[in-house]
Amino acid sequence: MKVTDHIANAKGKTLFTIEILPPLKGENIRNLFDHIDPLMEFKPPFIDVTYHREEYVFKKRENGLLEKISTRKRPGTVGICASIQNNYKVDTVPHIICGGFSKEETENALIDLHFLGIDNVLVLQGDAIKNEGRFAPEPDGNKFASELLQQVVDMNRGKYVDEELQSPNPSNFCIGVAGYPEKHFAAPNLKTDLKYLKLKVDLGAEYIVTQMFFDNDKYIDFVNRCREAGITVPIIPGIKPITTKAQASILPTTFHIDIPDDLADEVEKCSDNKAVKEVGIKWAVQQSKELMKFGVPTLHFYSMGKSDPIYRIAKELF
Ligand SMILES: Cc1cc2nc3c(=O)[nH]c(=O)nc-3n(C[C@H](O)[C@H](O)[C@H](O)COP(=O)(O)OP(=O)(O)OC[C@H]3O[C@@H](n4cnc5c(N)ncnc54)[C@H](O)[C@@H]3O)c2cc1C
Repeated sequence: MKVTDHIANAKGKTLFTIEILPPLKGENIRNLFDHIDPLMEFKPPFIDVTYHREEYVFKKRENGLLEKISTRKRPGTVGICASIQNNYKVDTVPHIICGGFSKEETENALIDLHFLGIDNVLVLQGDAIKNEGRFAPEPDGNKFASELLQQVVDMNRGKYVDEELQSPNPSNFCIGVAGYPEKHFAAPNLKTDLKYLKLKVDLGAEYIVTQMFFDNDKYIDFVNRCREAGITVPIIPGIKPITTKAQASILPTTFHIDIPDDLADEVEKCSDNKAVKEVGIKWAVQQSKELMKFGVPTLHFYSMGKSDPIYRIAKELF
């Protein structure tokens, strides 16, 4: 079932949904299920699974020279999605990215997803390769999420990259995109960023999932600005509870978001990470309650491999 149908069926009630990471290469899928199992109590109608592109590591050869090796630490997005659908009978939303894929490889991945009965995709530009700074598309790949989105929309209309096909079967993906209440880091300003977000919606994106934020006013302002710009699709807020002291600087560095003064002060006062986790849970519960009052379609939790804080937050809300 499509994400938008789940939202419509909820008739205004806020849903509980999560984003998970595929396990590190070599790990057992059972570890991931152990992490998802307790959260099923809150009946998530869909689960997002992130995509992690290759990165480069340097290995010393016998002759002393360094060899650059490409490796993917978290492969398996498509397999995990199929496995979750099979195991829990809930829908999954694989993230698909421009980076590292030619258009033909993207087409083949979409064909796999379609055959597996996966009805949703979140289309993204994708992160730059770790340590490479700037995002660079493949020569024959998509550069922006809007181009990737156009490819999925085309396939939904039966138009494949391979133009030799006779009456190709159209896919039927529900397409989501990312939005940034605090602006995407590469955009010159929020107005320009919103222009490109609107482009994605005009091309066929059916809902938006936001980057994590810790200040609800920023989300509400973003929603208002989107509505003024004529973006009418559901805007799903992404929530991440802080769980360690280090995250107070890691999250702003990695995701280009602010930690509000009050939260930063509370975290600073904590003597250990156990105390930080409590502060993070309390903040996320308060944030979620306000967002539910605002009428958000779903509270979408970034679990980042830790289910316990999400479980405790959800237990207070659902
Ligand atoms: C909810 C969510 C989930 C994510 N999941 C993943 C994941 O699984 N894997 C992963 O690698 N990354 C993930 N990311 C990170 C994301 O890939 C990066 O933030 C990336 O830098 C931007 O992706 P985008 O889809 O928003 O890009 P785009 O929409 O392509 O925008 C990228 C930048 O280009 C600008 N822009 C857009 N279109 C144009 C245009 N036509 N001309 C000029 N400028 C333009 C935008 O304003 C923005 O600054 C996720 C982010 C979010 C918010």
